[in-house]
Amino acid sequence: MVDENYDRIVEKISKSSGLEKEEIERRIEAKRAKLAGLISKEGAAQVIAAELGISFDNEKLKIEELLPGMRKVNVVGKIINLSPIRTFTTKKGDEGKVVNLTLADDTSNIKVVLWDTNHISLVEKQDIKEGSVVEIGNGSMRANEIHLGSFSELKFSKESIDNVITEKIVKEKDISDFKLSDSVSTRAFIVQAFEPKFFYVCPECKKKAISEAEGFSCSEHGKIIPEKRALINLVLDDGTETIRSVLFQEAIEGLGLGDLEDSDNLIVERQNLLGKEMLFRGDIRMNNFFNNPEFIVENVKEVNEDELLTNLEKE
Ligand SMILES: [Zn+2]
Repeated sequence: MVDENYDRIVEKISKSSGLEKEEIERRIEAKRAKLAGLISKEGAAQVIAAELGISFDNEKLKIEELLPGMRKVNVVGKIINLSPIRTFTTKKGDEGKVVNLTLADDTSNIKVVLWDTNHISLVEKQDIKEGSVVEIGNGSMRANEIHLGSFSELKFSKESIDNVITEKIVKEKDISDFKLSDSVSTRAFIVQAFEPKFFYVCPECKKKAISEAEGFSCSEHGKIIPEKRALINLVLDDGTETIRSVLFQEAIEGLGLGDLEDSDNLIVERQNLLGKEMLFRGDIRMNNFFNNPEFIVENVKEVNEDELLTNLEKE
C-alpha cells in the first residue's frame, strides 16, 4: 500500500535537511527497529524530523498533509458543513460551548472543533457559515481532527477555493493503523460474533426511545410507537490486530444472517460467520464505556475473489 502522507514527510525532510531520501528512509527504519515496531512509519518520520530540527510548525499545509500529533497547524479551506452549537457543563460547573465543522480544500476534508468563545461567537453572529472560506492558524491535531483553542486563529480568507473534496475520505488501512475519527475500509476475519441486541428508536427522529410503564416516548415527539432495531458486536482480525466492532441495521444486512429473532437459526449463522473474511467500511470512534476505540461499521461486503485477482494482476 502506498502511503502518500509518509512519502510527503520524507520529501519535506529531504528538502529541509539536504539528505538523500534513501538515507532518511534508512534512519526511519532504524528508528522503528529500535522501537520494536511500536511506532508507525509516519510517526518514526516525525521523530527523525524533530531530531534533525525540522519543524512543520506554521507552515501552510493542504488538508491531506495534516497528520495526527501535528501542532501549530495552518490551513485554508471552505466550510462545507457546520453543526449546531452544543453546550456542555465544564468540570468547574460553568457552561461551555463547542462547534464542529467540516473544512474542505482541493485535496481532502477534515473535522474542525471550535472551543474558543471568540470563534464560536463568529458562528453565533453568522459571520462564519457554511460556504465561508476561512484560514485557521495555530490549530492542533487530535487524532484526525483540528482543534482550535484560545491560542488558535480563525479568520476569513480571501482565497477562492474551487473543486473542494466533499466526499467522506475513506482510507484503506490495516487494523493496527486505525486511528480515532478515521473513516476506513479493511479486509478482515470475523473472530467473534455476539448475539444481536435489540433497542427501540423514535420512528421520526430515530433517537433512542425512552421505555415507560406503558409504551414508549421520545424526548422530542412525546408518546410514540417505536421501531425495533438491532445491533451486533463483532471482533475483527486482519492479522495486524483485532478490534471490537458494532454493526447496526444496514451493516447487519451485509452479513446475510436471515431472521435475527429466530435464535435457533442464529446459533448456526453466527457459527458460520467465524473465520469468514469480509470487507468492512466505517468509522473509528471512542467507546466511552470501555474507553477503547471501536469500529462503527456502516457497510459489509463479501470479498469478491475475481476483483482481488484483477487488482493483483494490475499491480
Ligand atoms: Zn422523536
